[in-house]
Amino acid sequence: MHSAVKHQYDNLPFPTVIVVGGGFAGLEVVQRLAGKPYKVLLLDKQNHHCFQPLLYQVATASLGADSIGHPFRRTVGPMPNVAFRMAEVLRVVSEEKRLETNVGDFRYDILILALGSTTNFFGNRQMAEVAMQLKSISQALDIRSDFLQDFERAMVLDDEAERRRCLNFVIVGAGPTGVELAGALAEIRRTVLHHEYRELESSLMRIVLIDSNDRVLKNFSPASSANALSYLRALGVEVLLNQRVTGGDEEHILLGDGSALETNTVIWAAGVKGVLVPGLEPGLHERANRYIVDRTLALQGFSDIYILGDIALMQESAWPNGHPQGAQAAMQHGRHVARNLIRRAEEKDPLHFTYRDKGSMAVIGRRRAVVDLGKRSFGGTVAWLLWMFVHVAQLVSFRNRMMVLVNWGWKYLSWKNTIRLIVRPYMRKGTQVSRPFVAHE
Ligand SMILES: Cc1cc2nc3c(=O)[nH]c(=O)nc-3n(C[C@H](O)[C@H](O)[C@H](O)COP(=O)(O)OP(=O)(O)OC[C@H]3O[C@@H](n4cnc5c(N)ncnc54)[C@H](O)[C@@H]3O)c2cc1C
Repeated sequence: MHSAVKHQYDNLPFPTVIVVGGGFAGLEVVQRLAGKPYKVLLLDKQNHHCFQPLLYQVATASLGADSIGHPFRRTVGPMPNVAFRMAEVLRVVSEEKRLETNVGDFRYDILILALGSTTNFFGNRQMAEVAMQLKSISQALDIRSDFLQDFERAMVLDDEAERRRCLNFVIVGAGPTGVELAGALAEIRRTVLHHEYRELESSLMRIVLIDSNDRVLKNFSPASSANALSYLRALGVEVLLNQRVTGGDEEHILLGDGSALETNTVIWAAGVKGVLVPGLEPGLHERANRYIVDRTLALQGFSDIYILGDIALMQESAWPNGHPQGAQAAMQHGRHVARNLIRRAEEKDPLHFTYRDKGSMAVIGRRRAVVDLGKRSFGGTVAWLLWMFVHVAQLVSFRNRMMVLVNWGWKYLSWKNTIRLIVRPYMRKGTQVSRPFVAHE
């Protein structure tokens, strides 16, 4: 084991479980193995867990970064049999039960891989170059700085066309992330832009949501899709369906029908693919980089490697294309693998995993949300309250929950997003937008 790992737990007479990735799946395993007869080592390239479902609220200045992030050391500190190292895994050497990372090598008896997803541009290289992404806190802060800079820049631009381009926000992908982001930006136009950028016509700001499907939230029920669409339209979001983005640059994007949209800001929320684990054979995963696992979540052909969360593909009869890539599935995977490891320590046989669908929900704005629960779909205030309750309850720490509640309460009463500091200006590629405040030079 890496020489730096000199933790009291080194002397514990237990097998070593390495968990790579402290997202929803990995953290669940770690928490459930606390106090159990294993030495657990959590490795993550970041030092904190990120509650991704609320990233869009950080991006749109409703929540601070520390409301949705939680340091791993705070979580594992009180767990004597768990250690954490901030390390990026570079390669799995399965025949030697060894991991290579950017801070050295680690040996394992049991390996749990839960590396999550990354943005899928589906081969669209131009978009991969210019579009913004929303997968991490740092990307959320980029989006926040970017739209605030655009507002400031629009205030000092004389050229009407340039001002319009600067205030035209295009979101590609009308899944939950795209829909939630579009709704939040539309509320900012209605509240912040209208009241605090008084010299700007708030109608100059456009929010365009584009999807190649024929409805928004395609994985939801048709009733919820229709509800979400009407909420978006009521907020003034322009929704373009059956449209594909084929390319673009820092000033415009091209659509499949040959038309173009002038914009400085494209946010890509159109798809995900699994993070590949170097060292594992390419034949072990399918096209969207999900690794094929058996009913215990063990990687096919391996009894000591488990794959969880977004990168796992288990073909249950009810889920022939794998479980939904969401927090619920990831947490259930984590819970199940921890349970089986505890059974293994007790010399009991592993149990098969069965996914329990707890429904889907998305929020489009104040008192506007949609929920699918089993065969039932509903929207409006009840859905919005349920969405808030579920999200607050899932946050990792009590402090996170309190901060989110206080911020939401304040926002609800004041109608303001107040976390609007540009503390780390976002600099884009290309001359047009890399000089945000130079209109009168
Ligand atoms: C903007 C957004 C909104 C979402 N909204 C919802 C929602 O409303 N409801 C819902 O159910 N799901 C939602 N999801 C999806 C949900 O967040 C994911 O399905 C879930 O996080 C997957 O959990 P995971 O444990 O597999 O991976 P993650 O939670 O992504 O965790 C992966 C971890 O692995 C680490 N990692 C990656 N590569 C390496 C490496 N090489 N070395 C070390 N560490 C590494 C990462 O730093 C990260 O901490 C959303 C996702 C996003 C991005």
